Amino acid sequence: MLGGITPLLCSWGCALNSDGTPHGRDARMPDSRGPDPFLLSTAPPSRAEKWLAGAGLATLVLALLITIPYARLRTTGTEVLLPAYAVAVFLVELLTSTLLLALFSVQKSWAVLTLSSGYLFSGLLVIPWVVTLPDVFAPLGMGSNIESTATLAAVRRLSFPLFVIAYALTKDRDSTGDEPQRSIPMIIVRRTALIASLAGAVAWVAIVHPDKLPKFMIDNRNVAPLWHAVPIAAICLYLIGLVSLWVRRRSSLDLWLMVVLCTLLIENITLTYVTGGTRLNLGWWAGRLYGLVSASIVLLVLLSEATTLQARLARSVHSERLARESRLTTMEALSASIAHEINQPLASIVINAGAGLRWLDQEVSQTEEVRAALERIARDGHRARDVVDGIRRLFRRDAQERVPLDLNHLIEDVLQHWREEARMAGVTIRADLDAKLPRATGNPSQLQQVISNLIANAGEAMGTISDRPRVVHVTSKRLKSRGILVSVADTGPGIEPNFKDRIFEPFFSTKPDGMGMGLMFSRSIIESHGGKLWVTDNVPHGAVFHLTLPNGDGSLEPNVGPLQRHGTIP
Ligand code: ADP
Repeated sequence: MLGGITPLLCSWGCALNSDGTPHGRDARMPDSRGPDPFLLSTAPPSRAEKWLAGAGLATLVLALLITIPYARLRTTGTEVLLPAYAVAVFLVELLTSTLLLALFSVQKSWAVLTLSSGYLFSGLLVIPWVVTLPDVFAPLGMGSNIESTATLAAVRRLSFPLFVIAYALTKDRDSTGDEPQRSIPMIIVRRTALIASLAGAVAWVAIVHPDKLPKFMIDNRNVAPLWHAVPIAAICLYLIGLVSLWVRRRSSLDLWLMVVLCTLLIENITLTYVTGGTRLNLGWWAGRLYGLVSASIVLLVLLSEATTLQARLARSVHSERLARESRLTTMEALSASIAHEINQPLASIVINAGAGLRWLDQEVSQTEEVRAALERIARDGHRARDVVDGIRRLFRRDAQERVPLDLNHLIEDVLQHWREEARMAGVTIRADLDAKLPRATGNPSQLQQVISNLIANAGEAMGTISDRPRVVHVTSKRLKSRGILVSVADTGPGIEPNFKDRIFEPFFSTKPDGMGMGLMFSRSIIESHGGKLWVTDNVPHGAVFHLTLPNGDGSLEPNVGPLQRHGTIP
């Protein structure tokens, strides 16, 4: 029915986001050429991220200050921890590099690939660094040289900020469409091979030609004066990196890389100045800890981003599925409602056409009856056309027609339509219509459909009754505190108590060929008119359907509510 479809359209409306944008398209979705708001390398940092970054740095500075008084305390036997430290750094940097490669394959950004190479290079150099440590593997009889260790440490320390600077300088070029032309896996394989060869070459020189290396160490614990150039150069590179990132800062990744460089700065200051140039004391270990923290920052951010994205994806898939199911249900309900509304006049046309044919076949001409049947056929045809027109109007979503109307007159029109069929089915139709009924405002075609549907249901319900008169009793009355009540009572079998609510649900029907849509749409129509529709038991047999409508001025008895839906007639 016409008004009955409105809520369905509303549920189609639920396929919209709360801000009115179509479902399935995020309101913040970028233009296809704009930056992706979900990628770490393009999304701007949130306020929470900025706070977290600031708080993390403040904590590290505080930790540095606390370390200073105890930094030169010597530790004994802590060398054995070095392999564990190296393995941790190696794994963290390798994982970070891998996740950045995944980001590269999505965003196709050369800058992200460069950064990934930086992490890979730094991670790979950890292996020769730990292998050449004299404190660790010398007792196992493996050749080691502290100069090799120092050189590898220097290369690691100086190369990483160079990669970060390269990232900062090239990242804006990516948005100008300078995308890789070759296949992404091939680029990744080639780049990985290049970085691994570079790291291998550095390690080979450092391990195989220790005599050709600069003199960074006096002995296994104390650094030579030349070493001091390394942290100074590293600090300069970190500062250049920080400035480059700061002036081009746009994304979360930029923010966290700045935090990484700050942490590396703290690590360097600790290792070089706070420890007094001595290895393996408390300050040196604190510096190593900062190094591990700094290596882990981007990894943690990437992992948390991946988890958040996965959760968002799961939520979005879930809501997409719900929307699809709701769309399907809506389509199903809509097509059922159209069939329901068209079937009523069609059935009536068939009955009248059959009756007309029978009268034509009779020997004595029954012109008047045939004329009456043809008139009813024409009227039903118009009704069917009205339904189709109404559905079309609904789709246009323009305001539903509401006119002042005399409900008694409307009821009489409907009853007139049913009288002939009632007579043929042995049903008596009685009407007690209140002569002082106020005018109502509504859609005449919709209200006719409702009353017609209630009468059709009453007639069908009494189809099996043979032990008592089949009576449909229609009443209208003015409610005490304004508003109109219309009731349709029958003497059928009534409605089982546990079905009283369910009969208003879509597709609930006890009839073999029933669609179970009529009462649902009837209730929707009445509610869209500001009224109520409910059912009670008739005494001693049958059911009574009640509907209320506001007066023409919109007023309705205020205490007509859900309680009365299931209770007595108001
Ligand atoms: P349909 O007529 O296609 O079954 P409706 O929504 O109009 O769909 O009715 C739903 C169900 O409500 C019917 O199948 C029937 O079981 C019950 N019903 C409706 N009107 C009456 C009535 N007057 N007496 C008994 N049962 C009724």
